[in-house]
Amino acid sequence: MNVYDSHRMADTLAPAGFAETARPEEADLVILNTCHIREKAAEKVYSEIGRIRVMKEAAAAEGRRVLIAVAGCVAQAEGEEIVRRAPSVDVVVGSQNYHRLPTLIARAAGGEQVVDTEFPVEDKFEVLASPERAAIRARGVTAFVTVQEGCDKFCTFCVVPYTRGAEVSRPVAQIVAEVERLAEAGVREITLIGQNVNAYHGQGEDGAPSSLGRLLRRLAGVPGILRLRYTTSHPRDMDDDLVRAHAELEALMPYVHLPVQSGSDSILAAMNRRHTRDEYLAVIAALRAGRADLAFTSDFIVGFPGETEEDFRATLALVDAVGYASAFSFMYSPRPGTPAAEMEQVPDEVKSERLQRLQAAITRHQRAFNAGFAGRDLDVLLEKPGKLPGQLVGKSPYLQAVQVMAPRSAIGQIARVTITEVGSNSLFGALAEPAIVPQLAIAGA
Ligand code: SAM
Ligand code: SF4
Repeated sequence: MNVYDSHRMADTLAPAGFAETARPEEADLVILNTCHIREKAAEKVYSEIGRIRVMKEAAAAEGRRVLIAVAGCVAQAEGEEIVRRAPSVDVVVGSQNYHRLPTLIARAAGGEQVVDTEFPVEDKFEVLASPERAAIRARGVTAFVTVQEGCDKFCTFCVVPYTRGAEVSRPVAQIVAEVERLAEAGVREITLIGQNVNAYHGQGEDGAPSSLGRLLRRLAGVPGILRLRYTTSHPRDMDDDLVRAHAELEALMPYVHLPVQSGSDSILAAMNRRHTRDEYLAVIAALRAGRADLAFTSDFIVGFPGETEEDFRATLALVDAVGYASAFSFMYSPRPGTPAAEMEQVPDEVKSERLQRLQAAITRHQRAFNAGFAGRDLDVLLEKPGKLPGQLVGKSPYLQAVQVMAPRSAIGQIARVTITEVGSNSLFGALAEPAIVPQLAIAGA
């Protein structure tokens, strides 16, 4: 979501004459877009500000003014404290206010130090969607589109409900307009994003609330869009309509990121996840019944307060039961202000030892999953040049990176690729004969 927000920040500043640069030392404005999900986020931000301050001072010595802005969830959580601790910062802007950046930057350019972290009354997305304010630009053949933001679930370990605010869904018409614009600019794959994306309930074009399943069906009809994905889902919100969409929609990729956090019922209850291990497995089974080749990924937290060796083994057993294609895993990190931060903590060495065991299990499944594709054909959306001359890199339906020798003109197209080699992070292949996938012909292939 921060990647999406950063792109929108750049888009909203473009009419004011700002262009993106890959070289921070050249920048007239540096925006740190921050994440607060785990510990030490704020400390990392302060040390990064220190680094940028040196650049700011060097530029000032040459008579050039550089502005520093801190955005995102650390800005939301720290607010005024940032300008107090780091006076070189010119703007602090919260996660719901970045549509105001052009005004805030203009005020800062006039010499003011600006802090804007109040949750605003106006709709950030509506402001961002108005063409005179921010032309949404494509940056390649895949794009994220935020459809839902914030969270009302209050898992006991998580800061999101405090930093991103209450759950809100964007109206379908607004999302369709954004996706149409991206498709016209060459985007072929859209990933719908939200902290709880499958809790989506935005206003439909007929005025009635729309589920995520309905939204996906609508977007599958947008000309030029070949692939749809969504992330991150909560197991409780995986409704029948969305399960059916996986069985019925060809454009919806057979890949579901469904965080479980723990395989132990008592830990799930202490986390306030509001589902049991069996309920989670039932969701997986229902999805697989509709589409047998679905790949699953997840997020795990080890060392949540009170987690015993037995609880942890239940997590390992769940990893084996599901057979994930990959997964993210984290040591529990106490977040001030959340209920779990007040509970009795698991020692760091135990957390770290469990993390290693969990990651070994996940890697084993990931290798087995990837190895299963050796010698098989996969449809690959070709995204950009690869590492070697003449090579392109793209994604399989299961979100694996695939490297293949193919002409540059094939970027943006889906090619059938025979997998010849399976690496730990990518697959390697050769264009199949024929490499043309029905939707689009590959020019020059
Ligand atoms: N909404 C998603 C869900 O319900 O699973 C997760 C969103 S959260 C932004 C991304 C991941 O960060 C979580 O799934 C969790 O594994 C991890 N996370 C969140 N808070 C954490 C904490 N305090 N310590 C460690 N990991 C945490
Ligand atoms: Fe955080 Fe996800 Fe729980 Fe919401 S559902 S509180 S975003 S972990």
